[in-house]
Amino acid sequence: MIAVTLAPGKEKRVNAGHPWIYRSEIARIEGDPPPGALAVVSDHRGKLLGQAMVNLRSQIAARLLSRTEETIDGAFIERRIREALARAARSATGPGACRLVFGEGDRMPGLIADRYGDLVVIQILTAGMERLRDEVVGALRRVVGPRAIYERSDVSARKLEGLELRRGFAWGTADTGVWIKEGDVAFFVEVAAGQKTGFFLDQRENRQAVKRLARDRTVLDCFCYSGGFSVSAGAGGAASILGVDISPEALSWAERSAAENGLAGRCKFVAANAFDYLRALDREGRRFGMIILDPPAFTKGREALAGALRGYNEINLRAMRLLDRGGILVTCSCSYHVDAAVFLDMLRSAGADAHREFRLLELRTQAADHPILLAAKETQYLKCAILEAVN
Ligand code: SAH
Repeated sequence: MIAVTLAPGKEKRVNAGHPWIYRSEIARIEGDPPPGALAVVSDHRGKLLGQAMVNLRSQIAARLLSRTEETIDGAFIERRIREALARAARSATGPGACRLVFGEGDRMPGLIADRYGDLVVIQILTAGMERLRDEVVGALRRVVGPRAIYERSDVSARKLEGLELRRGFAWGTADTGVWIKEGDVAFFVEVAAGQKTGFFLDQRENRQAVKRLARDRTVLDCFCYSGGFSVSAGAGGAASILGVDISPEALSWAERSAAENGLAGRCKFVAANAFDYLRALDREGRRFGMIILDPPAFTKGREALAGALRGYNEINLRAMRLLDRGGILVTCSCSYHVDAAVFLDMLRSAGADAHREFRLLELRTQAADHPILLAAKETQYLKCAILEAVN
């Protein structure tokens, strides 16, 4: 067995409930662990902290899987997946689509599993979870009983772990285009070609907020992807919806969903760069009653924070200028490194530059089926501020 001993004092965060151990916090390693190997982790006095998946190639050199000496095998993985499913059943709003396993938030570092109807989509992000892949697929088959399991392990984060990218069916086959329902709204999801695992499940509760606030408004949905917010606004009674995204393929899915919900006449989707498009709308003197901004993460690291904030500032400033009096701005950031305080400061400065006054109606986060580990702030990444233009 591989044994990892932490340097003095470095057990504090782990004892507080955080699952990560950085390379610099390790004093000693007995054995030569291949990437992803399981190791027993102790503090410098030899007290057991738990069992972790070790990968010395990564900055996060170990991720705690268990805080006891229990055997890590197929039965262990199945227990963890059953716990995650019970958690998902408590936090999701009904059958259909939901996140079943949210990595660290479900004590399964490196594993994402989503359910879209009778299809399960998994994403394996670390070398440790990669070694447990067969157990994960087997347990999901037994516990969830899906028609098929599709794998979207094609994210660049895997390269940091020394892993190849992989995409395809992990078990069974099915159509990769599926229809899901959120309440009375239908969405088309393409799990093989779409972003992430196909749909932004993390925005589910924020879509509900948009639906609630959209009545009779003219809506602009920037970075609309497959139309999650656009179609929700339409279902909530918006007068018209203009969705903008750079991906024509994503817009074709948005059009399908709009049509399925009888909203084709009120929704228009445009393939464009949202930065340029916002500028052009301002030049034309267009105004909207609701604007949604949900850009991709402008930064994956701390280094690029300043540039990311300039990007957020630019689109928010432009959107603020385009709002009618009483208009609503729904503005999101999924960059973990831009925390809620920094995000609000950016909005304050954009509001000042726009010479508009705003009321913060709601400060929201990711859907409840993306559970936040209290001790690990990295598990909270999504911010969604809902502002009302007072003047
Ligand atoms: N709001 C969506 C998710 C947005 S994800 C939802 O709730 O489902 C970010 C989207 O931004 C992606 O669809 C991507 O194609 C798009 N995108 C990235 N850069 C862009 C740009 N410069 N202009 C417009 N869209 C862009």
